[in-house]
Amino acid sequence: MTYDKNNVFAKILRGEIPCEKIYEDKYVLAFYDINPQKKIHALIIPKGEYVDLDDFSSKASEKEISGLIKGISIAAKKVGISNDGYRSLVNIGENGNQEVPHLHFHIFGGEKLGKMVPQS
Ligand code: AMP
Repeated sequence: MTYDKNNVFAKILRGEIPCEKIYEDKYVLAFYDINPQKKIHALIIPKGEYVDLDDFSSKASEKEISGLIKGISIAAKKVGISNDGYRSLVNIGENGNQEVPHLHFHIFGGEKLGKMVPQS
């Protein structure tokens, strides 16, 4: 699993592409999704170079892992969706329909989200 340094989130982390930032610390960057699927749609990414969740789980430090998990809650609070509830999910690989090969958690909220997995 080779990390592609030219993926769009790597470019955002390097400041080569702008993003609408929500939260940033030593371990994570959270920003709004450019093509929102729900009223609120944010993304949170680790600052380290990890292709997907499996890559992250096997290589990241405990601090990076806890930083990302805590960051989901922090970002949800920052965008004002914590009290009413929200959903966070991660797509992994081809069957998971992951499009950007840098680990990212989606954070959806601001409205009723319906069933977890859409019927297709
Ligand atoms: P996934 O299918 O899980 O890989 O999701 C990738 C997400 O990245 C999609 O929801 C895209 O809308 C989002 N995305 C792609 N490019 C950008 C960008 N430049 N800024 C913010 N979000 C982006």
